[in-house]
Formats: sequence, C-alpha cells, structure tokens
Amino acid sequence: MATHKTRMLVIGSGPAGLTAAIYGARAGLEPIVVQGLQPGGQLTITTDVENYPGFRDVIQGPWLMEEMQAQAEHVGTRMLWDTIVDIDLTGSPFRAIGDSGDVYEGETLVVATGAQAKWLGVPGEEELGGKGVSACATCDGFFYRGKKVVVIGGGNTAVEEALYLTNHSQDVTVIHRRDSFRAERILQDRLFAHPNIKVEWNKAVKAFDGDVGAGGLRAVELVDTVTGEASRIETDGAFVAIGHAPATGLFKGKLELDGGGYIVGEPGTPKTSIPGVFACGDVMDHIYRQAVTAAGTGCMAALDAERFLAEREFAAAKEKTSA
Ligand code: FAD
Ligand code: NAP
Repeated sequence: MATHKTRMLVIGSGPAGLTAAIYGARAGLEPIVVQGLQPGGQLTITTDVENYPGFRDVIQGPWLMEEMQAQAEHVGTRMLWDTIVDIDLTGSPFRAIGDSGDVYEGETLVVATGAQAKWLGVPGEEELGGKGVSACATCDGFFYRGKKVVVIGGGNTAVEEALYLTNHSQDVTVIHRRDSFRAERILQDRLFAHPNIKVEWNKAVKAFDGDVGAGGLRAVELVDTVTGEASRIETDGAFVAIGHAPATGLFKGKLELDGGGYIVGEPGTPKTSIPGVFACGDVMDHIYRQAVTAAGTGCMAALDAERFLAEREFAAAKEKTSA
C-alpha cells in the first residue's frame, strides 16, 4: 500500500475539485486529486450544458469535465483513481485512507465531494433520466420552451424551480405529497400568484411513463395520498425537486455540518471549522449548486490553501530567527 504526500490534497473531481487543483498546481502546491466513484462529478451524467461561461455553442457535460481534468493535469495535478473511506483531521498533515488501502497525506485539504440530487426511486425515473426526467430546472428548463412541465416537491427548491420554469413554459404543475408547502412564505406567495402554475396537492408520483427510445417522457402516474385514487398527468418534462444530499458522511463529527449535512464554513469563504481544511462546491452550498459557482469556490479554496501554507511558513521562519 502506497503513501501519497502532497501540499494540497483534493477530494473530489467535479468542477470545484478540478478548479482548486488548477489553481493549486499553478501555485506550486503539486496537488493530488482523489477522484471518487464519479470522476468529473455530476456534469458527467448530463448532456447539454448551455450556461457555463466561455462557450457560445452548446457543450456536453462529460466533454467539459474531460477538458477541466486535462487542464488540471497539464499544469501539474496528479489524478488518482480511488475513493476516500476514512479521514483523520486531528493534525497536520491531514490523513485520508483510500478504498484501495493507499494513504493520502495533505498539508492542506480541499473537500469537494459535491452533493447528489435525491430521486424518488419509482419505475421509469432512471430510464427516462435526461429524456424528460431531470433534477435541475436551471440546467434543463430551456429544453421545454412552450411545453408542459411538472415539478415534484414542496420545499424551496421545488417552488423556485417551478417559478424558474415559467420563463420557458406556460403550463407548470407542482405535484406535492401533502396539502401545504414547506417553502418560505414569500416564495409560496409568488407561486400562488402566478397565472401559469397549478398545484396538485396530496399526490405522490407512482411512476414515470414514456418511451425510452424515441419520444421520452409522456406522463406521470399519480396516487392520491389521502384517498388512494390513481390519476395521470400528460407532460413533456418532469423535474424532481425533493432535496439534495451532500456527500459528507466521511466528515460527520470531524467538521462542522449544518442540519442538512452541508459543511459549514466561515461566511463568504471556503474555510471550515479546522484551519487548513477548505470546502468548496455543492458540498458547502445548498443554494446555488451550479458548475460555475462550484468552480468559483474551488478557486477560492486553492487561494486560501496557498495563503494558509505561506502564513504558516512565515510564522515558522520568524520563530526560528527569534529563537
Ligand atoms: P460534484 O460535481 O458533485 O463532484 C463531486 C466529486 O466528489 C465527484 O468527482 C465524486 O466522485 C467525488 N467524491 C465524492 N465522495 C468522494 C470520496 N469519498 N472520495 C473521493 N471522491 C469523492 N450545473 C450547471 O452549472 N449547468 C448545468 O447545465 C448543469 N446541469 C446539471 C445536470 C444534472 C443532471 C445534474 C445532476 C447537475 C447539473 N448541474 C449543472 C449542477 C452541477 O453539476 C453541480 O453544481 C456541480 O457539478 C457541483 O460540482 P462539485 O465539484 O461541487 O461536485
Ligand atoms: P427540502 O426543504 O428538504 O424539501 C424537500 C421537499 O421534497 C419537501 O416538500 C418534501 O415533502 C418533498 N419530498 C422529500 N422526499 C420526497 C419523496 N420521496 N416524495 C415526494 N416528495 C418528497 O429540500 P429543498 O427544497 O431542496 O431545500 C433544501 C434546503 O435548501 C432547505 O434548507 C432550503 O431552505 C434550502 N434552499 C434555500 C433556497 C433559498 O434560500 N432561496 C433555495 C433552495 C433551497 P414534505 O414537505 O412532505 O416533507
């Protein structure tokens, strides 16, 4: 079993981790990125990306992530294929154990493990993913211009997604399993006032119906959670908005997490509750959750990691000269 040492250890290879690596490598920190089970992160499971700055034409999510990885490697990042299964943050260097048995030691640590959309787990959902079923209205709403869409959920995300979708669609239906939303009042008021949004209360989605080959999603099959009555809504697009789960299992009891499991940082910075450990991207952001914001906070994490090391070295040198 090998031990890999670096000045900046990055866990996660989505836009946040790879951007941190690009900046870290250019600052001479010789970063190591441990890629995890989804090399390239969430964008590798989508197709068209139209909102990442710098590209006039539609680009493909997997292609964008290949380019980011190539850029990170080009400037000196070592990409390693492993998944971190345990971590020790009690002292520097921080020590991570890979599923392979390899050990990773970082003088600084950048946590970029992302978050995954929660799914309903009903028939048709997985098969029709990207073919009418989505978990990201900001990403995919544009493809439903002038079409009929539904949103499933009753929290802030569902209400915001429904409001956002009215930019593209004149027929938006929110499907919620109870008879009231948990979303903030102000968002609910906006939703109820909107002429193009309807709500189906007390309805759970039983299945997504469609043609995986050509036509994609056709309808959602519903069941009334009070009466048990079955119904069906014909639709072109369905947006599942029932929450996101940050990948922070590794850090429970080791870093400060909020009630939703997201890493809590010093406001406006990627600094966590442990000096030298930085968090960026979806793992610390339950609001924006975009590739560009993940990349932006990845950049901030690397800049702060570099400053942290420089300050530590400056303090050590000063102590030596005054001794
Ligand atoms: P992620 O992309 O989630 O990457 C997390 C990384 O951490 C992965 O590489 C994973 O393997 C790794 N990891 C996790 N746990 C471990 C571990 N224990 N050890 C090692 N590695 C680990 N955003 C847009 O801006 N535009 C879009 O068009 C768009 N489309 C989307 C379409 C879909 C279907 C989805 C799901 C999301 C979309 N998003 C889009 C959102 C965007 O993908 C995310 O905001 C972004 O990927 C977050 O980046 P991240 O680096 O924080 O995390
Ligand atoms: P959330 O608040 O957890 O809401 C999830 C919604 O999905 C709930 O209405 C829940 O129903 C429903 N749901 C969960 N599992 C379901 C299932 N299996 N079947 C059907 N419905 C299901 O998640 P969120 O809306 O993504 O918000 C997450 C956090 O981010 C919150 O803290 C939120 O405030 C925050 N957020 C903030 C903003 C903002 O400030 N603008 C925007 C987005 C998100 P029940 O209500 O019945 O439980």
